[in-house]
Amino acid sequence: MQITNNHNVPENIFLAIREVQGEYTKADADFSISGLLDSPRIQVLRSRHFPGITEDITDGFKAWIGSVMHKHLSEKDAKRDGLLSSGHMFVTIQGKKIKGESDLYNENDHSVTDYKFTSVYALIYESRDDKFEEQLNGYAMLFRDLGLEVKSLKIVYFLTDWSKRKASREENYPKSPIVVKEFRLWTQEECEQFYSEKIYIHSTSQDLDDDQLPECTDEEKWQSETSYAVMKEGNKKATKNFSTESEANSFIEEKVKEGLTDKKKAKDKYYVQVRPGEAIRCNMYCPVKEFCNVYQKNKPTV
Ligand code: SF4
Repeated sequence: MQITNNHNVPENIFLAIREVQGEYTKADADFSISGLLDSPRIQVLRSRHFPGITEDITDGFKAWIGSVMHKHLSEKDAKRDGLLSSGHMFVTIQGKKIKGESDLYNENDHSVTDYKFTSVYALIYESRDDKFEEQLNGYAMLFRDLGLEVKSLKIVYFLTDWSKRKASREENYPKSPIVVKEFRLWTQEECEQFYSEKIYIHSTSQDLDDDQLPECTDEEKWQSETSYAVMKEGNKKATKNFSTESEANSFIEEKVKEGLTDKKKAKDKYYVQVRPGEAIRCNMYCPVKEFCNVYQKNKPTV
């Protein structure tokens, strides 16, 4: 992987981030839990074209912050009785060696915990919850394979963009930058069934040509929805956003009705501005987009 420094990050910081950027984390295993939960297309293209992938050092900034915090917590946890801090675990399913690295196992209450450094938005909208549940249950499967009982699963969210001001004013805003949330624990059979299917998809993808790889799902592309903004003529900001055009049009009709009885409002003119959804990961974050025929076909024209 080629790392650029397009924004002149000081050398000592560049070198520190460089240590974690582009780390290939499955060691000698066939797959990692996190790799199995990602898109097979991205995983295969990344592995095949690794030397040709280019990222800027600043693309690794968030991962670096998370890595520093994980390391710090891991050192502290390792010194406390009953806490098993992160370490590599392996299990063999369908003849494939699977690696996982959970952040914490608590021998006292038999809980598995993972630390996430994320945005308030991700917590409020539960945008990553399905993935977190799948990941935690992957770790539960590995711990059980080691002979350890698992009774509960938790994520500790560290909300990197948390605002005390918003917490005091907004009802649904988290009241603390550190939030603990429990997730559903699957049976061992459910875990093995789920991961067997993932292993099958990823294994069979390895035999396919680049252009034949299964397409990423909307979830994997971080596809945002098209929205319909009602704009008041002369204003730059939307009066209100809607997820369907008919809702936006109904809102305008209401405004027109209000204008019939209110002379001041009668002067206001509204129109609908369509804001197309976007494949955010493809356009902004995917490290293999240069090698992806789906992106090359659909990429936005400047
Ligand atoms: S560019 Fe988009 S479609 Fe292509 S591999 Fe990346 S996320 Fe998937």
